[in-house]
Amino acid sequence: MRRQRMAPWPCSTPARAGHRPKIGPTPHVDGNAVAGALSLVLGREATTIVLECAECGDRHRVAETRAYLRCPGMVLRCPACSACEVLLVDRPHRLQLTLMSIRTLQLP
Ligand SMILES: [Zn+2]
Repeated sequence: MRRQRMAPWPCSTPARAGHRPKIGPTPHVDGNAVAGALSLVLGREATTIVLECAECGDRHRVAETRAYLRCPGMVLRCPACSACEVLLVDRPHRLQLTLMSIRTLQLP
């Protein structure tokens, strides 16, 4: 059986020149929207965790990130440069947390 092609990954690079996306920008919310899921994974309150972006050096709380929820997983992006910082995927019987463009993660 042939696998269906998935929608573009939210952390992929911008569309190639000449490529016209079929949909507009994906709406996002603030990082508070994923606080519950992150708290389950980390075992502590997550919105006040401070992230330092590996791309631009911006320091911000998880609550200040831009959260994209309509993806194959939940994606947190840097509010300054849009780098993909955290990917949280709800898999059968487990939550998978992937840290991406983060230089440091400071727990309060
Ligand atoms: Zn950044």
